Amino acid sequence: MDKCLLHDEEAKRTCVKCKKRFCEKCAALTEYSGLCPGCERDKQRRIYDYALKKKTMYLSNALAFLIGALAFLAAGFIFTDFKTAGMVGLCVLGALSLVFFVLFADKCVACRRASALADAIDAEIKKNKNRC
Ligand SMILES: [Zn+2]
Ligand SMILES: [Zn+2]
Repeated sequence: MDKCLLHDEEAKRTCVKCKKRFCEKCAALTEYSGLCPGCERDKQRRIYDYALKKKTMYLSNALAFLIGALAFLAAGFIFTDFKTAGMVGLCVLGALSLVFFVLFADKCVACRRASALADAIDAEIKKNKNRC
């Protein structure tokens, strides 16, 4: 019987990436991705890094559009003949800003999820490595 790289259990699965053998416990831990715990942890870390970069970009876009929207709003107040253009600008840039805030929030969730999963797998790897 093949033994799991982490647990004292039969390894019924093979990692699609590094070909290491692992058990059902590991499969549950990696959410049945077909990867072993080590590869899945690395994958989640990469997802985290990517989401973090996007998150920062989306936030700066959201803020830039928000500032633009407020500038249009202010201009509409100051210059009476700019009122219509001011309102249009406010709506368009405000909507764009909102879209980027939503994207930002989505990446925040993705970041948290990936880092939680990577940490959980890492903890399991460390726990079982100490045992051997
Ligand atoms: Zn692997
Ligand atoms: Zn296992």
